[in-house]
Amino acid sequence: GLPPSKGKLEFRNVTAKYTETGRPILSDLTLSIEPGTRMAVVGRTGSGKSTLSLSLLRFTHLSMGSITIDDIPIQDMSLETLRRDLVTMIPQDAVLFEGSIRENLDPFGFHTDAELQSALDACSGMSTSPPDATNHLLRLGTSIHSQGANLSHGQRQILSLARALVRRSKIMLLDESTASVDSATEARMQDIMDDWFRDRTVLAICHRLRGVVGGFFDQVLVLGNGEIKEYVYLVLS
Ligand code: ATP
Ligand code: MG
Repeated sequence: GLPPSKGKLEFRNVTAKYTETGRPILSDLTLSIEPGTRMAVVGRTGSGKSTLSLSLLRFTHLSMGSITIDDIPIQDMSLETLRRDLVTMIPQDAVLFEGSIRENLDPFGFHTDAELQSALDACSGMSTSPPDATNHLLRLGTSIHSQGANLSHGQRQILSLARALVRRSKIMLLDESTASVDSATEARMQDIMDDWFRDRTVLAICHRLRGVVGGFFDQVLVLGNGEIKEYVYLVLS
């Protein structure tokens, strides 16, 4: 079973580097995120957005400060707990391998076909009207070529989302790719997340204003040069 998690996140005076001797990429960053918050992270290229999410997964070196999940410092957790149970990352480019969609969604066989099928259905446009004919081709038995070469970028992104839906971690990290998803797919992904991630904390790097103003997010964090420049609460009717 999963450790109980609320999905509260706290960065306290975090200075993060990629190597011990490297330059700081995040500088003295302090940020508190309540459970269930949906936060968009924006900022110019190189401002530290990906570094922020990588730091949460312990891919950077903290020379100062601390990051906690539900008040527990992440360095006190096993990497397995942190990266498999507590946080699910939807990366900039979906990681797919040669095998069936079933194997790609659930490599270790933790889930039933029914669970996987319902996540895939949610993501592949079964519920849209009219149904999305292209994505109906995505069945559990469908073969995927190495690196998902036989799928479009959008389909890869959708599988990546389906894989995240079957996980039950309270924290979701999205590093949105600039190129791969069209606006209709982006809107649909947000609808799906709205349904499935109701009580989860979402931290999403957004490259386009369009995704930020769609009504999904309740806070926007603006990063610049590894520091917080603005912190905006979106009040939506
Ligand atoms: P983009 O919008 O282009 O994805 P970003 O805001 O995600 O940009 P980061 O990837 O966090 O930016 O990079 C912030 C800074 O950290 C940049 O100056 C970059 O050169 C540096 N950086 C990123 N990855 C590494 C790494 N693995 N090793 C050393 N420096 C890195
Ligand atoms: Mg990035």
